[in-house]
Amino acid sequence: MDAEVIVAGVNVAGSFALKALSGTDVIAIEKRRTLGYPVECGELVPYVEEMKRLLPDLKSYELFEIPGKYSTNETDYIELIIPNGKSFKVPFKSHIIERDRMVQDVASKGDATILTQHLITGYNRKKLDVRDLETKKKLTISGKVIIASDGGHSVIGRHLGLRNELCPTIQYLMDNVETDENVVKMFVGQEVAAGGYAWIIPKGNGLANVGLGFRKEYARKGDTIHKTMDRFLHKLDITKQYFEKAKIIHKVGAVVPIGLPGKTVVDNVLLAGDSGSQIITHVGAGIPTSMVCGNLAGKIASMHVREGIALSKYETEWKTQLMDALMRSYAIKSMWDLVSKDDARMVRMFEKLVTEKDMYHIIRGYLPLKLAVGKLFLPFLKMVI
Ligand SMILES: Cc1cc2nc3c(=O)[nH]c(=O)nc-3n(C[C@H](O)[C@H](O)[C@H](O)COP(=O)(O)OP(=O)(O)OC[C@H]3O[C@@H](n4cnc5c(N)ncnc54)[C@H](O)[C@@H]3O)c2cc1C
Repeated sequence: MDAEVIVAGVNVAGSFALKALSGTDVIAIEKRRTLGYPVECGELVPYVEEMKRLLPDLKSYELFEIPGKYSTNETDYIELIIPNGKSFKVPFKSHIIERDRMVQDVASKGDATILTQHLITGYNRKKLDVRDLETKKKLTISGKVIIASDGGHSVIGRHLGLRNELCPTIQYLMDNVETDENVVKMFVGQEVAAGGYAWIIPKGNGLANVGLGFRKEYARKGDTIHKTMDRFLHKLDITKQYFEKAKIIHKVGAVVPIGLPGKTVVDNVLLAGDSGSQIITHVGAGIPTSMVCGNLAGKIASMHVREGIALSKYETEWKTQLMDALMRSYAIKSMWDLVSKDDARMVRMFEKLVTEKDMYHIIRGYLPLKLAVGKLFLPFLKMVI
């Protein structure tokens, strides 16, 4: 089986690639039965005005004009809560979307043949090995260009010798969560989410995506992601109030890339989205970057097939538009890592050094100067704080 372009994995990056590839001969391959489902995501997408601050070098913000039909809730604030319960509440406008519906609609805007329930098992000399999960038949599919939009664990990336640094996460869709539905809550600290953060993202009408990221190397001995989630829901004084009447509807576990992007063009492969670690790491936001990079990968692949434009243009282009923001975000995440093994110290640092105004900038990916300088003196600060 051959195609001009193969889209390998159809979720956020893959669906936006498919839309951009309209008019090209495309086969898309997806292991799931239903595109975008189950949803392994908090489903928060910032408003256009926030995207302009988060990713200021984008050439267009049109992709972020999210149609109202995908939105189940709109929030005006993000509130960060530290281990002693002190909170930093900052204005930040977001859509909380039904991401699976958006992915399905966007993918259908292209005219590709989409093979669902097909698992990619290998990449070899510009060809993909694929297994039909229903019939168990094996196929080989080749394309002039392959867009690897198969997520953080990318099989194609692995076959090219590329690996992403990943943070495990767990998320429950819950009903009857008693929280202010205008506010997205983020909790930090070793007890709450070692090496990550925990979130309550209200979807409206009592529903919420509730989850956390957990890195074992930042956790206390014997802690696991499941123990941490149980503690977050039922045992901590600063959180249990939200969940007293709550019911779990659905559970997922997934990963978030937390490294800086490496190579994203190898042979005839373009890596887009989580497969290429194109993510705003300090908040684990990958929907916007996957939309942008999927769209760009689709456009460049189509121009390569029609006009012979070099595939390397993809990497040049996305780096011009995103890399500066991704590096700023990564710097914040790295600073965060330095203080996240000790809750008492984290509290002291926040109380002495961070204001709500600082948090306004940090959430948007800008480290205030005093903290950037503080990072250089962290060993000294650790002695005095
Ligand atoms: C719990 C959690 C909460 C998050 N919350 C948010 C949030 O609120 N806002 C935000 O911006 N970001 C969030 N993120 C990050 C965001 O979800 C990702 O960055 C985004 O989904 C990346 O999209 P993608 O299309 O690149 O990869 P993925 O969403 O991982 O999609 C990869 C696709 O490829 C398919 N696939 C994988 N392997 C194969 C294979 N071998 N064969 C065939 N198909 C395959 C998968 O089934 C999937 O459909 C969250 C992530 C997690 C884990």
